[in-house]
Amino acid sequence: MDRYASRHKAKDEHPGLYVHIPFCKTKCPYCDFYSVVDHSHRATWAEFVQQEAAFYIDEFGVFDTLYLGGGTPSVLDLDVFQELISGLRAAFSFTNDVEITVELNPDDVSADGLRGMRNAGTNRISLGAQSFHDEVLSFLGRRHSMRQNLQALELMQETGFDNVSIDLMYGFHGQREATWLADLEQALTFRPAHMSCYLLSIESGTPFGRRHLEGRLQRLDEEAERTFYLLTSEYLRSHGYEHYEVSSFARSRVQRSRHNQKYWHHVPYLGLGPAAHSFRAGTRWWNVRSVMSYVQSLREGKKPLAESEELSEEQIRLEALYTGLRMSDGLALSLVQTFPRGDAILGDLIRDGLVRVTGDRMVPTPEGYVVADGLARMFA
Ligand code: SF4
Repeated sequence: MDRYASRHKAKDEHPGLYVHIPFCKTKCPYCDFYSVVDHSHRATWAEFVQQEAAFYIDEFGVFDTLYLGGGTPSVLDLDVFQELISGLRAAFSFTNDVEITVELNPDDVSADGLRGMRNAGTNRISLGAQSFHDEVLSFLGRRHSMRQNLQALELMQETGFDNVSIDLMYGFHGQREATWLADLEQALTFRPAHMSCYLLSIESGTPFGRRHLEGRLQRLDEEAERTFYLLTSEYLRSHGYEHYEVSSFARSRVQRSRHNQKYWHHVPYLGLGPAAHSFRAGTRWWNVRSVMSYVQSLREGKKPLAESEELSEEQIRLEALYTGLRMSDGLALSLVQTFPRGDAILGDLIRDGLVRVTGDRMVPTPEGYVVADGLARMFA
């Protein structure tokens, strides 16, 4: 057993598989995920992913999650989607109860498409609804309408998808609390298994980032962000959802995103596609952030790697601190005590209502989530 494996029980868990579909019909002005609007390689995407998969056969064991993210996986034609899944199933082993998640944009959803995805094994959908108000969708530069969001959710119910996650965004300058609460209320009429609620983050290099620099787009001030955040947490918890990660809510523990938890727990994962990240045995590596370079590498018979890094024990420990303070599972007190003044800082945070101790773990409160990264910096 290697040094990393001997120190990390997460090695006992099944690895996860991520596939990046880097195509979008248009770019949303706030988004800094890697995607392109040139779809020249879309029709043959399954073949490229399969070529990359061939480098990793027998290297990761049995996967219990497959997550198709993007970009926009739902822009793939159904035959390409099915070819992609069957190619991955041929290349790798999966558990019988594998969680297969696909991110969908509401304007791509059709009954035939959903049935086809279901027949291919998809059992979880993450819907990028973002809002149930047309003026907010228009501000966010989304292509779909509120009506399309509702239709997509109705179709999912009709086609038997009961494990659905709804993505919503909030925290815009000028947004009223009542508008946001109406979004949450509308989402809950569909009883989603999972909700991901993201505070709008204005990233440099995006159109929103440029508008912000030019003074044409304001951020919410910290106090307003905090108010919106706590309102969200309180509303969803009062409607039976577990706030299990900074932006993630589940109707029950089993309805948490099995796949995303692997990233937060240092469980091994393999990422295929441009800009995808992978992690195993203390090493992280990531692919080139370019469809052209990705395709070129594969055509030359090479892995499309950009870089890799071997994490030291210290880095693993710090990452566990940062992720632990972002999750309701928290982190072991024994880890907290490895930091200088760990016990004293823990006492201060308990006094300020930012964490609590449950059994042998330090667990953040919703107030603690608001400043999770700041809390981690106090220890580090
Ligand atoms: S559809 Fe998703 S990935 Fe594509 S630009 Fe919009 S937010 Fe980004």
